[in-house]
Amino acid sequence: MTATIIDGKAHAAALRARVGTGVEAFVAATGRKPGLAVVLVGEDAASAVYVRNKGKATVAAGMASIEHRLSADVDQDTLLALVDRLNADPAIDGILVQLPLPTQIDERAVITRIDPDKDVDGFHPVNAGRLAIGIDGFVPCTPLGCVMLLKAVCGSLSGAEAVVIGRSNIVGKPMAQLLLRESCTVTTVHSRTRDVAVHVRAADIVVAAVGIPGFVRADWIKPGATVIDVGINRTVAGLVGDVDYAGAVEVSGAITPVPGGVGPMTIACLIRNTYVSACRREGVAIDPAI
Ligand code: NAP
Repeated sequence: MTATIIDGKAHAAALRARVGTGVEAFVAATGRKPGLAVVLVGEDAASAVYVRNKGKATVAAGMASIEHRLSADVDQDTLLALVDRLNADPAIDGILVQLPLPTQIDERAVITRIDPDKDVDGFHPVNAGRLAIGIDGFVPCTPLGCVMLLKAVCGSLSGAEAVVIGRSNIVGKPMAQLLLRESCTVTTVHSRTRDVAVHVRAADIVVAAVGIPGFVRADWIKPGATVIDVGINRTVAGLVGDVDYAGAVEVSGAITPVPGGVGPMTIACLIRNTYVSACRREGVAIDPAI
């Protein structure tokens, strides 16, 4: 068996196009563009690339991108004061503070300061709580992108056995919540799990968010299972995921490649969340296709 390769780039392009159409209707209704403010602290090269790509995608979808760059030695009060200004600015619908932050800054204090209704990254505890109890809020972009890919490939996920490998606040935990919302039977495994392979072997859906190259072995995967590889690992061989891709492609039913799988969906979902925020704030109907 050779798996269907899930083309994250194509799915992301289609989502960005749908958001672009929604944004046109939003602008026609309100006379303004949705606005996303991105705050970058310091000179970290990878973060700078992420911020640049987010800005480009925002503008391409017809929205306003407002970038704030602060020096690496900025103090916490200055950063919190900027967040307060962005919270109060009616032209700003989404606020994203690029992580990681320098050590003198308490990340949790910054995330918690963002207005939950502008928290398009979905990291605020209020949005984590909303997801847990089933109230509309903002869902972190990477797991949201994963569940969109799964639904596009599998249709209904109801009743599927799903395993999430990893329990971080930005990927693993919200991923498990989203799969539960889709009525999967969800198992979360982590570094203290006694036998990860046993759980993966029973799964119809495997989401790997570990950060270890090739961690998920092909002989763990149930034939025909759908495999979503969130991992982004820089190795001498280039960018690789958390799954032994060459082996897994022979046994799974469908699989995301790295790169070109989950990654492009993350930015598309950020654009989507910003559009949704703008609509909610202005009382404009959200396009159900988005
Ligand atoms: P993280 O915060 O480091 O979490 C990794 C998780 O993996 C932890 O819960 C950890 O368990 C678990 N783990 C570590 N070793 C394990 C083992 N031997 N067996 C089972 N579980 C193990 O990482 P993250 O932020 O969730 O990111 C995970 C990966 O996704 C990384 O490669 C990251 O670069 C990538 N990522 C990609 C995107 C994207 O857009 N595609 C976005 C975000 C992250 P414990 O909790 O017990 O320590």
